[in-house]
Amino acid sequence: MSTNAAKLEWSALSQKALNGESLTVEEGLAVLEADNDEVLPLMQAAFQVRKHFYGKKVKLNMIINAKSGLCPEDCGYCSQSIVSTAPVQKYTLLDKDTLLAGAREAMARKAGTYCIVAAGKGPTEKELDQVVDAVKEIRDTMPLKICACLGILKDGQAERLAEAGVHRYNHNLNTSKANYPSITTTHTYDQRVETVEKVKTYGMSPCSGVIIGMGETNQEIVEMAFALRELDADSIPMNFLNAIPGTPLENAGRTPAMKALKVLALFRFICPSKEIRVAGGREVNLRTLQPLSLYAANSLFVGDYLTTAGQDISSDHLMIEDLGFEIELNAL
Ligand code: SF4
Repeated sequence: MSTNAAKLEWSALSQKALNGESLTVEEGLAVLEADNDEVLPLMQAAFQVRKHFYGKKVKLNMIINAKSGLCPEDCGYCSQSIVSTAPVQKYTLLDKDTLLAGAREAMARKAGTYCIVAAGKGPTEKELDQVVDAVKEIRDTMPLKICACLGILKDGQAERLAEAGVHRYNHNLNTSKANYPSITTTHTYDQRVETVEKVKTYGMSPCSGVIIGMGETNQEIVEMAFALRELDADSIPMNFLNAIPGTPLENAGRTPAMKALKVLALFRFICPSKEIRVAGGREVNLRTLQPLSLYAANSLFVGDYLTTAGQDISSDHLMIEDLGFEIELNAL
């Protein structure tokens, strides 16, 4: 396929996305299987969609690992799982002062959203009380949006978080339904979907994303994008596996940067108006091509991830400035 022909094809996909039409599975696969020479026209087409909904704005989110390690689940990618031998910090839920200090740090980094993330299958009532208490104070004293990621929620818990003022709840689908049992056996894909649905019921904004690079096929990546379209997730964190020694997926390798860009373009076409965030594994998978990711994505995590280091904040701010993009504060 000549470059001109490819340009036409990719712009037809952006037109479809802007018209609210869904891509076909074949079109989705064509994006993932595009020649690397077509990545720039592909990103340009994705940028047309991104620009329509978000202009050149970039939202920043910051995570705090509010409870680390000690998790009874067996997620194959996670260094905090019961089956991981990776050396990670282990601590119970951070106290309120530490959660508030994290929120102030998020503001200093120009992050509009502060994500409180706790390891575990789901929160105990005591942990929920602590999170609720901290969230109320952050809401009263800082102009931050708050996202909670505490695992599977039991009856009544989503309601309490919503009442406390949590804007958004994250619970990732992670991978395709078919691939799920090869990644995690201690809970199911359907339980994850149920929690996202519960969150929506109580008026919190649903955030749900994926981890690319866990043995899934291209067909399954397309299915994941359609599953999130179906779930109507407002925010989609796009993680690229950072294989951690000591985890079951330690030998999974990295996603080539060009492939990661194609995946981001695909999600922009299939979930055109949604916040697409380049999340964990950005630095190790996209490497020097990180800036190109923002032609499809409109959001980044800044600072460290749960158990791995991110790049320093000044590099992220410079990247956005060099692209001629601007940081968007206080958006959800
Ligand atoms: Fe536990 Fe969450 Fe890690 Fe799974 S991803 S092992 S539920 S901390």
